[in-house]
Amino acid sequence: MEPYYGSTDFAHGAKYGNPSSIHHAGRASYAGLNDARRTIAEILGADSNEIVFTGCGSESDNAALRGIALARRKRSGAKRIITTPIEHHAVLYTAEDLRELFGFEVTLLPADGDGLVQADDLAEAMGDGDDVALVSVMYANNEIGSIQPISELGSLCRERNVPFHTDAVQAAGKLPLSVKDLNVDALSASAHKFYGPKGVGFLYLRRGTPFHPSLTGGSHEGRRRAGTENVPGIVGMAAALALCEAERDSEMARLRSLRDRIIGETVGAIEGIRLTGSPTFRLDNHASFVLRDVEAEAILIGLDLAGIAASSGSACTSARQRPSHVLEAIGVPAQDLAGGLRLSLGRSNTSEQIEEFLDILPRIVDQHRQVPPPAL
Ligand SMILES: *Cc1c(COP(=O)(O)O)cnc(C)c1O
Repeated sequence: MEPYYGSTDFAHGAKYGNPSSIHHAGRASYAGLNDARRTIAEILGADSNEIVFTGCGSESDNAALRGIALARRKRSGAKRIITTPIEHHAVLYTAEDLRELFGFEVTLLPADGDGLVQADDLAEAMGDGDDVALVSVMYANNEIGSIQPISELGSLCRERNVPFHTDAVQAAGKLPLSVKDLNVDALSASAHKFYGPKGVGFLYLRRGTPFHPSLTGGSHEGRRRAGTENVPGIVGMAAALALCEAERDSEMARLRSLRDRIIGETVGAIEGIRLTGSPTFRLDNHASFVLRDVEAEAILIGLDLAGIAASSGSACTSARQRPSHVLEAIGVPAQDLAGGLRLSLGRSNTSEQIEEFLDILPRIVDQHRQVPPPAL
């Protein structure tokens, strides 16, 4: 497939027409939208009209959960939502809202110590699936990097005719996105997680999936999301995803070796550090740990002073300093919850930077380790 590199004309406003208008300026924007839709559809192995453009990954998750759960309940009366305790809040809070305001029941599948969901647990939770409105399981976790067996979970849903959504925001650009192989009916993604612009995302919705739009109004996006599309954002998103796909194999191999060096040189070398998430089924660019007797915040500040940007829990919640719901759900002991450290590697990272990080981390940890007071 030829990568689509888009046109800067959209970003600079030269294509000022409304994509829904008939006049020539509108048609130029519509063509940009159409090309972007085709590019993304091809990467997913989907049809163009199965792609719905949204304002971000959170909106895609919201639209999938509300849209499918409400439509399916209207059609069949099913009122149970099955998801996991390690989802992004865009999924968890939406499920909670559907429970509180719309009377759905929410079942949370267990995640094991490696942050993995088991197919048997999903099969058991679904039963014959008749009362299940929707199953939503994320493809890859943002805090601990674990990759779920989406294809297997999806086929269990398909056997029971239960719609299956996956939050693929962390996976897009890093893992295969073929919706046929994944057996998904809906998939969420967000451009800024794969070097695209901020404030734009998409939702794949398989043809025939029951769906009730959250935004109503005009007939944009096949009546699944009213409102004039963010054309420059969408054109940039498609270009960014095409670039990631074109170099995915080689870039992921490069990041995997950097990641393995980080994991190999920290676990064992620093006292009281432990890998979180699966050692095997994890994103190639992702290393995450818990450190005993240390506040991650202090480590992050130390790293930042050395020019290294790392994170503790989810970037979205770090300002509030609540313990991570993901680390809690996979059984990290309460006294270690403040010590979550996460490194996401990307295009700009070099092996020199990794060596620098490995050199400095033990010293920062030593400086900040809170020595417990001697027992009386
Ligand atoms: C970042 C993220 C989101 C939210 O995407 P936004 O575009 O920032 O709204 C949802 N799910 C996961 C797994 C994420 O990492």
